[in-house]
Amino acid sequence: MRLRDLSIRAKVLVTGLGALLFVLGVGALASFRYWEREQFALTAEHAVLAARALRPGIEGALAHGQVGAARRQLDALVARPPAAGYRVVLNDGRVLVASRRPEEGLPRSGTPLPDPWDIPTDGLTLRGRGESAASVVVPLAGVGGGRATLELLLDTRRINAAIRRGRSFGLALTTVLGIAYAVVLGLMLEREIMAPLWQLKAGLARASAGEAGVRVGLERKDEFGRLGASVDALLAKEERSQQLAVTRGRALAEQAGFAQVGALAAQIGHEIKRPLAGIQSAIELISQEYAMSDGERGLLTRVEDQLQQVDRTVRDLLSLAKPVGLNAQPAHLSSIVDAALVRVSGTPGADHVTVIRGYDPADPELVVDSGRLEQAVTNLVGNAIEAMPEGGVLRVTTRPAEGGQELVVADTGVGIPPKNIDQIMKPFFSTKPHGTGLGLALVARIVEAHGGRLWVESQVGRGTTFHVILPPTPPASQGATP
Ligand code: ADP
Ligand code: MG
Repeated sequence: MRLRDLSIRAKVLVTGLGALLFVLGVGALASFRYWEREQFALTAEHAVLAARALRPGIEGALAHGQVGAARRQLDALVARPPAAGYRVVLNDGRVLVASRRPEEGLPRSGTPLPDPWDIPTDGLTLRGRGESAASVVVPLAGVGGGRATLELLLDTRRINAAIRRGRSFGLALTTVLGIAYAVVLGLMLEREIMAPLWQLKAGLARASAGEAGVRVGLERKDEFGRLGASVDALLAKEERSQQLAVTRGRALAEQAGFAQVGALAAQIGHEIKRPLAGIQSAIELISQEYAMSDGERGLLTRVEDQLQQVDRTVRDLLSLAKPVGLNAQPAHLSSIVDAALVRVSGTPGADHVTVIRGYDPADPELVVDSGRLEQAVTNLVGNAIEAMPEGGVLRVTTRPAEGGQELVVADTGVGIPPKNIDQIMKPFFSTKPHGTGLGLALVARIVEAHGGRLWVESQVGRGTTFHVILPPTPPASQGATP
């Protein structure tokens, strides 16, 4: 298995542990070496000091041939560590006094000592091969008619034991540190890499299972945060195109249902329309012909208002029931939108709303049914104004888009709760006390008749944005003037 095939978790663990072992290993080795040398140097220094302190006494004793006295001093010295033995070696290489008596009188064997004249009076530390061979030498003046050498053999067992203890301690420390590091690394890995990955994965899984409105929501400042933001943007885009598809699909399905309901609605509409017109002219007549008190006149005005509401509903119903045959002519989207804005400017609440127009400077001519389209835009901007009873900003934008011209109607109103989003295009769905619920159904039909697309984005409390895309010309079946 190659490193590339491992999971991220394994990769980070392997490389992290590898790096740790390398660093700790090199560090431990270097500090062991340093520490060993220090330990050895300290021991040797100790011995050199002892030898130097002893030198005058030994020189004096040996100069007078008092070998026994010299031996006593030396024996006292080697009774305590770190010195473990001694030799006094004459200029000709013979051993004069030694802690091991049999060596006395014989030539010194083993690694040759430096010439006594080359040994500084402060002494010299000799380190033989291997850790157990170490000694300290000091020159002795006036012994055996020249210079002799005092050789102190060091007890390296103690140093070596200390070094071994140090090593085991170092090893244990390294192991503990390594484990602690691995734990910290693991936790970091979990928190910094695995958790966001899981969050991303879970979000994507939910989205691909068809759940609506899923966002990964990785609120981080690192690369994962940026990745999460891109994924969220992608999800939003995907959702928009889904919403669009849903809208079109629903409009089609509704049309099918409307074949029957629509015929009935049209009939009822016509039935109501006639008596309605009669009542309206009767009221007009009454208000002209009869003298009335202010209270009576107010009552009559209210009746007129309500009649107008009924009239509006009937007209909406009729236009919804009618098959949308287009009277398509070249027109500019901007003038259609302007006409719709003029129409709603008189409605209650419109004066609290700031309208911002942003029209495409190119503003190409589209082949559309201006009257029907104006009706649709009027419904959209009317809804927007109704969504901002406390006032707000209505932004109407046109711009080139894939597949034609796009009209964007955005408000800063109450927004649409997610549970309603799927309902708003349906006929008779309304959340308003006097709403007919026919406005958006009509918009959807008109946009669809033009071969266009319609979708909506909304956030409760933030506002709603409707998008309409109109192709340059309507589909062939709709293009002909009826
Ligand atoms: P109506 O306006 O008669 O209620 P519509 O079909 O025009 O019917 O709208 C249906 C519903 O969609 C409204 O009742 C409202 O809940 C919602 N809606 C439409 N446009 C907006 C908007 N711009 N802001 C908030 N809600 C909206
Ligand atoms: Mg409406």
